[in-house]
Amino acid sequence: MAGIEKEAKDFEIGMYRPPSEGGSSSLLLRVTRNCPWNRCEFCVMYKTEKFEVRSAEDVKKDIDAVDAICRGLITLSWKLGHQGDVNREVAIRFLERTPEFSDRHSFFMVLNWLSSGAKTAFLQDANSLILKTDHLVEILQYLRRKFPSLERVTSYARSRTLARKPPEDLKNIHEAGLDRLHVGLETGDDELLSLVRKGCTAEDHVRGGQKAVAAGFQLSEYWMPGLGGKEMWENHARNTARVLNEINPHYIRSRPFNLPPGTPMAERLQRGQLTLLSPREQLLELKLMMESLTFTSRVCFDHAGNYWRNKRGGLLFSQSYEGYRFPEQKPHVLDLIEEDISLAQVPPMGFVMR
Ligand code: SF4
Repeated sequence: MAGIEKEAKDFEIGMYRPPSEGGSSSLLLRVTRNCPWNRCEFCVMYKTEKFEVRSAEDVKKDIDAVDAICRGLITLSWKLGHQGDVNREVAIRFLERTPEFSDRHSFFMVLNWLSSGAKTAFLQDANSLILKTDHLVEILQYLRRKFPSLERVTSYARSRTLARKPPEDLKNIHEAGLDRLHVGLETGDDELLSLVRKGCTAEDHVRGGQKAVAAGFQLSEYWMPGLGGKEMWENHARNTARVLNEINPHYIRSRPFNLPPGTPMAERLQRGQLTLLSPREQLLELKLMMESLTFTSRVCFDHAGNYWRNKRGGLLFSQSYEGYRFPEQKPHVLDLIEEDISLAQVPPMGFVMR
């Protein structure tokens, strides 16, 4: 154990990861800090923080620290007669021998990850693809060498970064071991993208998404129902569907717009320049969007923000990370939406369905 105490210093973990990335059983590895763009007007994630690149050496030291904890746990498991299985008893005995780990979030993350098979890892923070290609490839190759049990490594990326990256670089990153990208599309409407300062155009979304798919990545695109309010809902729905049809990603994931206090979007609401959709109006927008989708992707509502209820009071949509398969399950999704719309009474004032 003494070797572990010296070797396994604490290591960095960022705040955010997508819910679909293994829950608490994913290894989180921070390759950059915060967001290099940081200007989206609906976002509070990294607002007070400065973007920083972490050196490959520092990230590799973190990987070594994870490895040292894993080796310590597995060695102890064999000593205790559990044949390498990292179970509750192994964890308790480990903490008895090295109590300095007992308040380390990083230790418990590694424990959960290891005891659930050490299969998935997520590279933090908001846009790992901003790293120089060689830098990212070096980290990925090191990670894959250290942990051959990994079945999936994923990260966040921005469309504009993907659109600018040479196809050969994207291919090299994918081949070095990055399997899936999570991209915040939010909307495919140029006017709304500009209004919320997303820092990219619909064309960037399409080019970036198509290049990611062509390089071999699995692609998850996140869109934001309600983002355009009553003023822009129709263009938001139609153009988001159009862009997603052109990309044809593997997954789309709904993250309904809410309004964090103190953001420029909240100030716009106070000035009367934005009128929020009611849950029912969001359903009408959702219906138009779903009707307009012609792609072959999975449509997911895998987040607590998808709060629409069915007539029995349960959640309207499955919150499965694999979602609904389109086009096969599109009629089912439309039936669900239609059922929920019919529960509501009169359309709210000022909302006109065309
Ligand atoms: S790119 Fe993502 S993390 Fe960065 S400001 Fe926009 S929404 Fe927030």
